[in-house]
Amino acid sequence: MKAVVYEGPRNVSVTDVPDARIERSTDVLVEITSTNICGSDLHMYEGRTDFEPGRWFGHENLGRVVEVGDGVDRVQVGGYVVLPFNIACGHCKNCERQLTNYCLSAQPEPSMAGAAYGFADMGPWAGGQAELLRVPWGDVNCLRLGEDAEERQTDYVMLADIFPTGYHATEMAGVEPGDQTVIYGAGPVGLMAALSATIRGASKVMVVDRHPDRLRLAESIGAIAIDDSKVDPVEAVLEETMGLGADNGCECVGYQAHEPDGQEQANLTMNRLVASVRFTGRIGTVGVFVPEDPGAADELAKQGKLAFDFGTFWFKGQHLGSGQAPVKRYNRQLRDLVAAGKAEPSFIVSHELPLDQAPEAYEHFDRRDDGWTKVVLHPAM
Ligand code: NAD
Ligand code: ZN
Repeated sequence: MKAVVYEGPRNVSVTDVPDARIERSTDVLVEITSTNICGSDLHMYEGRTDFEPGRWFGHENLGRVVEVGDGVDRVQVGGYVVLPFNIACGHCKNCERQLTNYCLSAQPEPSMAGAAYGFADMGPWAGGQAELLRVPWGDVNCLRLGEDAEERQTDYVMLADIFPTGYHATEMAGVEPGDQTVIYGAGPVGLMAALSATIRGASKVMVVDRHPDRLRLAESIGAIAIDDSKVDPVEAVLEETMGLGADNGCECVGYQAHEPDGQEQANLTMNRLVASVRFTGRIGTVGVFVPEDPGAADELAKQGKLAFDFGTFWFKGQHLGSGQAPVKRYNRQLRDLVAAGKAEPSFIVSHELPLDQAPEAYEHFDRRDDGWTKVVLHPAM
């Protein structure tokens, strides 16, 4: 089968790899029909992780079930399923507490955070930017979709990661009806956080970034766009909130935060969030900060730059939530909102391409080229 194989920093190829197959009785084999490129793939693509050349990417996957193991009884051949990026056994201590993002069975090293398809440091699992994907513990890890799945794949595929992740940011931030919410980052994750804040009833959603195309998408769902290359975003938020600050905020950037002069500064968004959010407000951080990393983040950590202004955070009595999203906690409910026509996360999709065009797509998405917001690859196209 063909897969998007990592060759080295900023180099992927579409290459033949061994076919995925059923290996255990609880496995499900899925023919992938939609698989996204994610901002999280870029941590590996840019060479900031120890992802081994020869492995393949893909943790935002949707497809049709082509085979099930003898021990699978809820998933049927022929049906469409979307696959939460967190691989979970469903039965360990963490899974039973709904912490499927920290499953103890799917991650062979208890010191590491959870497991995912095609990901550095998240277990040995193969990715879904390929024609076939083996789904372990298939009854747990497949979310079944209805009759409209084939036609609405670009909506439903967002349930694998970024829609629940954006929602998780707003959950950790405690967004309630009437709230004024600020979101740093208008990438796919930030835009999903903006959509989620709107679904939860926020009266005002402010989105900070500097890419005009992404800010326009934020405006298209009713958010206020703040271009931090033109204005001080903290002052802009204070102006929008009568000087009080936002009720809550979401960090959807991670350690690739850039200052207008192009310098990486991972604590920038955290400090701006602390300054933008009101006294006692909550902050949800879903952007990835890696503790030990061979690349830029490690350098920043060594310089102590991943620390943020804890003094102001403490003085303001704020609260902070962080980490990988437990996708399964939300994706059934979000699926039903999509099915009912009450959420259309595909508004961020800029490109639908065959698998063969993945190398160019990675280049464009990595440069945040104008108009390249979210790429859905269709291996069967
Ligand atoms: P992305 O890189 O496409 O988007 C990030 C956006 O942030 C870009 O548009 C960029 O211009 C903007 N940005 C950079 N510096 C900024 C700053 N100082 N202020 C405001 N905006 C700034 O990536 P994405 O796909 O949207 O993902 C965002 C982050 O979320 C990544 O770190 C990704 O790994 C992470 N993520 C986490 C989870 C989770 O489970 N916690 C899941 C998916 C993705
Ligand atoms: Zn992702």
